[in-house]
Amino acid sequence: MLEEKVFEELISIVGAERCKRSKEDLLTYCYDACIHEYLPDAVVFPKSAQEVAHIMKTASAHNIFVTPRGAGSGLGGEALAKYGGIVICFSMMNRILEINTANRYAVVEPGVVIADLQKAVERAGLFYPPDPGSSAVATMGGSVAMNAGGMRGVKYGVTKDYLLGLEIVLPSGEMMMTGTVTSKDVTGYDLTRLICGSEGTLALVTRINVRLLPKPKTKRTLLAIYNSIDAAGDTVSKIIEAGIVPATLELMDKRLIKALDDFTHLGFPLDAEAVLLMDVDGDPETVENQVALVADFCRRQGAREVRVSSSEKENEQLWFARRSAFGAVARMRPTCLIEDATVPVSFLTATIKKVIEICERNRVQVAVLAHAGDGNMHPLMLCDQRDEEEMARVNKSMDEIVDYALSVGGTLSGEHGIGVNKARYLPKQLSETSLKMMKAIKRTFDPQCILNPGGFLDYGAL
Ligand SMILES: Cc1cc2nc3c(=O)[nH]c(=O)nc-3n(C[C@H](O)[C@H](O)[C@H](O)COP(=O)(O)OP(=O)(O)OC[C@H]3O[C@@H](n4cnc5c(N)ncnc54)[C@H](O)[C@@H]3O)c2cc1C
Repeated sequence: MLEEKVFEELISIVGAERCKRSKEDLLTYCYDACIHEYLPDAVVFPKSAQEVAHIMKTASAHNIFVTPRGAGSGLGGEALAKYGGIVICFSMMNRILEINTANRYAVVEPGVVIADLQKAVERAGLFYPPDPGSSAVATMGGSVAMNAGGMRGVKYGVTKDYLLGLEIVLPSGEMMMTGTVTSKDVTGYDLTRLICGSEGTLALVTRINVRLLPKPKTKRTLLAIYNSIDAAGDTVSKIIEAGIVPATLELMDKRLIKALDDFTHLGFPLDAEAVLLMDVDGDPETVENQVALVADFCRRQGAREVRVSSSEKENEQLWFARRSAFGAVARMRPTCLIEDATVPVSFLTATIKKVIEICERNRVQVAVLAHAGDGNMHPLMLCDQRDEEEMARVNKSMDEIVDYALSVGGTLSGEHGIGVNKARYLPKQLSETSLKMMKAIKRTFDPQCILNPGGFLDYGAL
C-alpha cells in the first residue's frame, strides 16, 4: 500500500484526475496479454518528461517500485506490477512531435500508437517498417522497450534498426538523451540500443527519434497453398537461402487456416495443410518480377496453388486475417498462450514438426503460426488456465519447445520478450557471466532496483 503522503505527492505532480487508486481503476492495469495478474497500488498518467522525472524522484525518495506501461499488449507480463507500487501509463504522452522529410526521421512521445505513426508518415510519402501484429494498439514506447519485431522483420528488421535516439528518465529522476537524429552516430557506448529491448527495467523512455524510409511504391500479396507442412517450411528456408527477400513471409498451419476462415470468411483453403502469406514491395517493375519469381519458386517447392492479390483491398483483407490470428483462435478455448522461441531458418521445418510432436504427445491443442522468414515460431497453445492438470501439460510442452530451440542454436524469445513468463528459462541460454553482466548493468541504471522489479531480472534475484 502506498502511504497517503506519497499519493498526495503524486497528485501534486499530475493532478487528481491523472492519478488513480480505486480498485475498479487499478483492475484495468493489473493484466496484459499474458495470463498473469498483479494489482498496482496506483496508476499515474504523466503528460510530459518533466512529470515523469518528478514521479521518479518521489518514487526513489520513498523507495517505491515503479512499472512503466504502454498499451499493455505485451505477451509475457512485462508491464505488470508484480510487487505492487506505481504504474506509469504513457497513454497521455501520445503526440507525434515532428516528421522531418528532409532528413527522414520522426520524433514521437512514447504513448503514440505504432499504426498512428505509420499512417502519419505514409501521408508524407515515408515509411516506418516495424509492424508487430498488435500495431493498432501497441505504443512506440512499449515497442522500444520490447524491441518489437513483427511481420516485416524478414526484409526490414526490427525496432532497434530504426532508433536514432531516445530521451530517457533514469530511476533516480535524472533526464538524459541517448543518440541523436543522425543516421550515423558512434559517440560512446550505444545506450539507445541498450535501452531497446530492456523491457522497462533500466529507464523510462519519454521521447523517441526514429529513422524513416521512403514509402515503397507498390506492394503485392501472395498466398501459397500446400498439401504438406514440410514443403511449406522447406520453401521458406530455400527462399532465404536463394537470396529472395519478400517483405513478409508468414506460415500458418491447417488449424489456424480453419480458425481464420471461420473468423473472416475470406475463402481460405480448408483442405490445405499449410499456407505461406507473403508480401513483395518496391518499384512496380521490380515487384512484378519478384511476384513471378516467388510464385514460381513456391510451385517448384510443392505449392499446389499460388494466389496473387490483384488489388490493395485484397492485400488488406489477407493481412487483416493474419492480424486476427490470435483473436480467431482465442474463440476456441478460454486461454491462448503464444510461444516465441526462434531458430535459425534452416531448422524451421524440423522445429514445426517438433512443436507439433511435443504438443500431440502432451495432449495440448496447438495451431502453428510463424514469422517464418525469421525462424520466429508462434505456436498458439489453446487451453484453460483454470485446469491445473492441463496447464502442467502446457508448461511441459513449453519447456520442451524451449529446450529444442536452444539445442539447434535458437533463442528463448525472438520478439515477445522474457517478462514474468520466461524468466525461469534465462539460465538455460545465458551463461553465469552474461547474467552477472546484465545484473551489473541493471544496478548501474537502477541501484535501488525500483524500476520494473518483477521484470525478467526479478529484484528478488538481484
Ligand atoms: C495480438 C498481438 C500480436 C502481437 N504481435 C507482435 C508481433 O508481431 N511482434 C512483436 O514483437 N510483438 C507482438 N506482440 C507483443 C506486443 O504487442 C509488443 O511487445 C508491443 O511492442 C508492446 O507494446 P505496448 O505498448 O503494449 O507495451 P506494454 O505491454 O504496455 O509494455 C511492454 C514493456 O514495455 C515497457 N514500457 C512501456 N512503455 C515504456 C516506456 N515509455 N519506457 C520504458 N518502458 C516502457 C513496459 O514496462 C513493459 O516492460 C503482440 C501482442 C498481441 C496481443
